[in-house]
Amino acid sequence: MRVIVGTKNAHKVLELQRILEPLIPGLILEPSPEDSPVEDGETFEANALIKARSAFHATGRPAIADDSGLEVTALDGRPGIFSARYAPSGEDADNTAKVLDDMRGVGDRRAAFVCAAALVHDGGEIVIEKRWEGSLAEHPAGSGGFGYDPVFIPEGYSVSAAELEARQKDELSHRGQAFRALAPHILAVG
Ligand code: IMP
Repeated sequence: MRVIVGTKNAHKVLELQRILEPLIPGLILEPSPEDSPVEDGETFEANALIKARSAFHATGRPAIADDSGLEVTALDGRPGIFSARYAPSGEDADNTAKVLDDMRGVGDRRAAFVCAAALVHDGGEIVIEKRWEGSLAEHPAGSGGFGYDPVFIPEGYSVSAAELEARQKDELSHRGQAFRALAPHILAVG
């Protein structure tokens, strides 16, 4: 079964392959040939649909995409949909440093990763959003994962998401939860 992924990010295609393959044996994910569309939605769901629609219209094949980010309670949900470019450079280390800076001296450290996973096909579209609750560390720790993983302590854990094994992160994560929930819908259109 061939499904297009609305991303240019090879890391994301591999991660989705790892999450979905056990549920959809023989799944082949292909990155969209289309240039990345402008993500001008105001929610994770809207942006995930923009990416999946663009990939579907470019190929005519069932297409999936996600939009994700970190919501910090004491920052009124920021960086939210702007997580990838929270610092001007858009580098992971700079984004992370800016969040820690914003949160210096703040006691309420609650945060959550959010992922909206979208599927667009010739019979319609569906989007599912899931959250991974946790809190912000005071300092980065760990070398796995990407983005804000070194400063995110999942609820029930005392290590950062960057200190988890990749498969353990998939079990718990916002992206793992969202795409596992989407998997039956992908199977149904394949
Ligand atoms: P997207 O590719 O537009 O969904 O960008 C999501 C951004 O949110 C990434 O660049 C990261 O900064 C952040 N993010 C999303 N998911 C994760 C995660 O699992 N770990 C760490 N950071 C994440």
